[in-house]
Amino acid sequence: MTDEKILSYIKKCLDAGRMSEAIETSEIAKVEFSKEELKNYIYKYLENGWISKAIEGSKAAGIGLPKEVLIKYINKYLEEGRIYSANEASKIIGIPLPREKIIIIGKECFLKGKLNPGLEAYKLVKENPPIEELLICGSVCFKEGQFYSGLEAYKLANKKPPEEELIVCGDKCFNTGQTTPGLEAYELANKTPTKEILRVCGEICLIEKRIDEARKALVASQKIEDIKEEKSIEIKEISRKEIGSLKEIEEALKCFGPGECLDCENGEEFKERFFLLSRCPAPGKEEEWLDKTMKEKYGLEHFAVGIFGENKGLIGSAVCVRCGSRNVSFESAETKAYIELKK
Ligand SMILES: [Zn+2]
Repeated sequence: MTDEKILSYIKKCLDAGRMSEAIETSEIAKVEFSKEELKNYIYKYLENGWISKAIEGSKAAGIGLPKEVLIKYINKYLEEGRIYSANEASKIIGIPLPREKIIIIGKECFLKGKLNPGLEAYKLVKENPPIEELLICGSVCFKEGQFYSGLEAYKLANKKPPEEELIVCGDKCFNTGQTTPGLEAYELANKTPTKEILRVCGEICLIEKRIDEARKALVASQKIEDIKEEKSIEIKEISRKEIGSLKEIEEALKCFGPGECLDCENGEEFKERFFLLSRCPAPGKEEEWLDKTMKEKYGLEHFAVGIFGENKGLIGSAVCVRCGSRNVSFESAETKAYIELKK
């Protein structure tokens, strides 16, 4: 091994908290480290909350680590809500943590929306976290877009998350490029996000090169667009009599009806059905949607569409009473009316 490689290996050991291994290697390779340098590493371990690594390192390096220093760090961990490190340290040096202080810290964690450290604190003192603190925590988590923590907090409090908070959370998630939790938040609230916010989310994901999440957001956005178009066409079944009384329908279309059975040439006896469309479908997707809806909802595969007013539609469908065929031509009094027979 070259000196450079050895040095980088030792440095790696030191960074990972493996001080005795670093010291052994440096002795074999005759590389020297100053006590000051090693001491800096030991304090770095303490900053990281690696109490046992710091103690082990101080022994290997022959650097004293006074108990007061360790206690100072325990207090620091507690103040920062680093319950796990504080507990670990207190176990190693054999000093129990002050119970009241831990409860206060648990509460503070909840108020800041830090669910796990809060739970950790209450677990340490073997107490159940108060419901109201959990609810506050859940609420803060939702505000910050931490959907799963918020959900967990409400679950622990045995309460359903409020719809408004879910929406706030979903929006925050979308605005920070978290597609999945955003969609889940909206789903739980039984609401649909806007296509704009989904697009924003998708773009953030794209910039961050998270392709799957980007695709998910953009697909969801597209779907909303489709639903919107479909929803904007209303279909209402009406009788022939009602057609006659509708002022909007032009005279020409009032005679809109079956002309002749294309199978048996019957021109008189038909069973008819009529529907009003709030607007005519656009070619392509909307037409497909109308075909599908007429078939699934009304059982009609053949129908004619006439236009009246401002792009409103009148659908007519007929069954030949003589031969049972649905293949029936449609007519209106004047040819200016647009009539199309679907097959
Ligand atoms: Zn017929």
